[in-house]
Amino acid sequence: MDLIKEINKSRPFVIAGPCSAETEEQVHTVLGEIARDGKTALLRAGIWKPRTRPNSFEGLGELALPWLVEAGKKNNLPVTTEVANAKHVQIALKYGVDVLWVGARTTVNPFAIQEIADALKGVNVPVIVKNPVNPDLMLWVGAFERLQQAGITQLAALHRGFSIYKHAKYRNIPNWEIPIALREEMPDIPLLCDPSHISGKREGLLEVAQKAMDLNYDGLMIETHPNPDAAWSDPAQQVTAQGLNELLSQIILRKEELSEEELGYIVVMREKIAGLDDRIFSLLSERMKMAEEVGLYKRENDITILQQEHWRKVIANRMDQADNLHLTNQFVRSIMDAIHQESIRHQTKVMNPSLKR
Ligand code: PEP
Ligand code: MN
Repeated sequence: MDLIKEINKSRPFVIAGPCSAETEEQVHTVLGEIARDGKTALLRAGIWKPRTRPNSFEGLGELALPWLVEAGKKNNLPVTTEVANAKHVQIALKYGVDVLWVGARTTVNPFAIQEIADALKGVNVPVIVKNPVNPDLMLWVGAFERLQQAGITQLAALHRGFSIYKHAKYRNIPNWEIPIALREEMPDIPLLCDPSHISGKREGLLEVAQKAMDLNYDGLMIETHPNPDAAWSDPAQQVTAQGLNELLSQIILRKEELSEEELGYIVVMREKIAGLDDRIFSLLSERMKMAEEVGLYKRENDITILQQEHWRKVIANRMDQADNLHLTNQFVRSIMDAIHQESIRHQTKVMNPSLKR
């Protein structure tokens, strides 16, 4: 399969199928339903499942591979599965899996990636690489480089979010800046999004999928199951084929190219915004000069830079204003922290001029 050509043909390029292959009937039912809707270009099913804790369902292994491959043939669509080591690669290729994907817990480990790359030498099969579990852009880039060095030319990136301890909204926090930076670093590699593993719950899929398409991603991978609540892995985030169809029809596809008229408007607005940024930065510069004056005063009077109680009140007051200003608490907090750190740096400079920094 020419993955890059197929991705360029249809936007969004959709990959769908169950988190795990569970039974022959389950695989055939759901992949058949997905294929009938005609919106999916690549069928998925997990055969080897990397689970965080033992005694969870770890996939059926080789036994389930023919079900996936047969379902692909029957529905005239290519198929993909996750591989995590050289043995998986050999078995998947033996059964004729069209596209391989590397999971987040594998991308994180250069030894594992190198082993997969070595097993792929001389076989130019397309490979989709998920981001590593930790927010490390270079591990992701490194995985592509290892595969490229092994001669793999058909590569795509799949953003599935990054591990986070107990987050109210996401199972894996998106950190959108990392895939955006990847696209800058490797502009020829198509970028796909996996809202299922980012959100962790089906109610959150549309928001993540829409955001990905608004960031001009090339496609989506959505876990789809005939009876999601009864799934052997990831029940909360899977949707039925009908749910997938509805989700896809709700996504608004916006264009990246602008007409002359649109460009005219946007250029004017961008200039106005740049003018506001100019004012913000000149105010910040003025603020830091004032912090230095206070620093001099503190130095003459032997006062510490930080008065904890005062800082607590400053933050609390700002946070109270966040709602009225239509800003999130998190944004206000991070701006205040950044200003405060810079201010401490300016005060430290005037208070301890002889210390090396
Ligand atoms: C999966 O797609 O089923 C999977 C295991 O994903 P990830 O590697 O993103 O956890
Ligand atoms: Mn899953």
